[in-house]
Amino acid sequence: MHELPVTEGILKTVIETSERNGARRITAINLVIGELSSIVDDSIQFYFDLLSQGTLAENAALHFRREPTIVICLDCAHRFNATAPLESQCPQCGGAHLQVKGSRDFFIESIEVEDEDTGR
Ligand SMILES: [Zn+2]
Repeated sequence: MHELPVTEGILKTVIETSERNGARRITAINLVIGELSSIVDDSIQFYFDLLSQGTLAENAALHFRREPTIVICLDCAHRFNATAPLESQCPQCGGAHLQVKGSRDFFIESIEVEDEDTGR
């Protein structure tokens, strides 16, 4: 379980970004999580609700998108989506020289904010 430090990192990043841009409130955070990541959406949401209290990000909606991880076979150039557990052989030629592309972890794709001007 490493969602707590991950969530702290997300919160820190979005708050810093929002403050730099003069945002008054963060309304939504769009996160991309790699298909092979062990991060659990519900745990992020849980910690986020807890940690965001009293911050700009309080009550922001978290949107999760799972991004497939692409594996490329270096023997036959076949590309396929990796699923956990990660395959060690190319399904097409049986080659073992595989290159994994794409994030295994996560990143913040975008955030949605309300700034001073458009606030109610
Ligand atoms: Zn192959």
